Amino acid sequence: MMPEKICGKPEKTKGRRKKILGLSLGLVGLIYVLYLFHLVSSFPPLKKEPAVIKKEIVGAYHLHTRFSDGRGRVEDVVKAARKNQLDFIILTDHGQPNLACLQSQGWRQGVLVLAGTEMSTSRGHLVGLAFSETVRNLPRQAEEAARIIQKEGGFTIIAHPYSKVSWSWGKENELYLGLELIDADTMLRKKWLPNLPLFPLLLFNKRIFALRMLESFPLPFRQWDRLNEIAPPHYGFFSCDAHLFYETLLSLFHLHLPLERELPPEFKAAREIIFNSLQSGAFYNAIDSAQPASGFNFWAKKGEEFYPMGRLIKLKPGEKVRLYIRAPTFVAGRLVLIHNGQKILTTMEKEISFEPEASGFYRVEVYLQDKSILPENLPWIVSNPIFLRMDQDDAHSD
Ligand SMILES: [Zn+2]
Ligand SMILES: [Zn+2]
Repeated sequence: MMPEKICGKPEKTKGRRKKILGLSLGLVGLIYVLYLFHLVSSFPPLKKEPAVIKKEIVGAYHLHTRFSDGRGRVEDVVKAARKNQLDFIILTDHGQPNLACLQSQGWRQGVLVLAGTEMSTSRGHLVGLAFSETVRNLPRQAEEAARIIQKEGGFTIIAHPYSKVSWSWGKENELYLGLELIDADTMLRKKWLPNLPLFPLLLFNKRIFALRMLESFPLPFRQWDRLNEIAPPHYGFFSCDAHLFYETLLSLFHLHLPLERELPPEFKAAREIIFNSLQSGAFYNAIDSAQPASGFNFWAKKGEEFYPMGRLIKLKPGEKVRLYIRAPTFVAGRLVLIHNGQKILTTMEKEISFEPEASGFYRVEVYLQDKSILPENLPWIVSNPIFLRMDQDDAHSD
């Protein structure tokens, strides 16, 4: 009798333990599901603008495919671009240059596929765009590579200057057209572990997953302002640097080009319009998955003449110029006007104009008022600068 009793007790305890373990796991699972449900339901929805400006076109820049270290084919990126309603994408596979990537350009399923190359150089990674298709064997020396790209009709952008392969700054900064201010790949790498519990969101709410990766990173913005003081012009680019998760990463950072007319159907003409806009800084950057940013604009008017973002305006003594800023009207945003790296005006108004009195560069940042969407200090919209030069400055520098 005794041995039976001894055996019976542990079995009973085992059963109870299993029950408790099962109940606890169930409870943890339930809390986790409730947490995800709460996160999704408490997130502000996208507010669609009633009338989208017809001529503004939107695209994503810095994308990798299987032509280098990306996981997807060009078709996969195009599919992701269509899902995100993008007009164009810019592929930038690694190479010196990457010929297969360059040859993949063209219209595909209504998306304009453009390509450049991300070069590995002596200073870090450098993206070359819009250069002639005859270019071969780009050198590793950064300045030399930038000079060749420039001579062949193109321009270069310093990729992820403060993350991954950081850029080692030199003297001839005027060789580069601009730099990346923010990139999705760096954020994904940094945040994937703390965001591990949010991975199920990739199945049913990619937007929240993507936004949860973001954090403010002011260093590239400061360097951008510094470059525009010492070697203007430099333009800022929001970069995807996507290798996988295309649909999610292509929803985040966009380049917006307010154009004067619709894109033409001929590939070469359309390509030229987009690359010319980028090369002249006539575009702004936005985190459209936070809220759609279309409708923003920043321009200047001197007399009867209009100047888009990116332009240098020369003023003779007595001449006046006026800057105009228009924010998208359907969400609350805080406009900040920056002059030579310093905030000089902050307003909640949707449309303002300002008469600048000093030379230098003026640019705009817009922050969402709803703090639950983006981390504080991370701008929703970042314009490219407008540069002013009074005639006295010329006399001074002579
Ligand atoms: Zn890179
Ligand atoms: Zn890259």
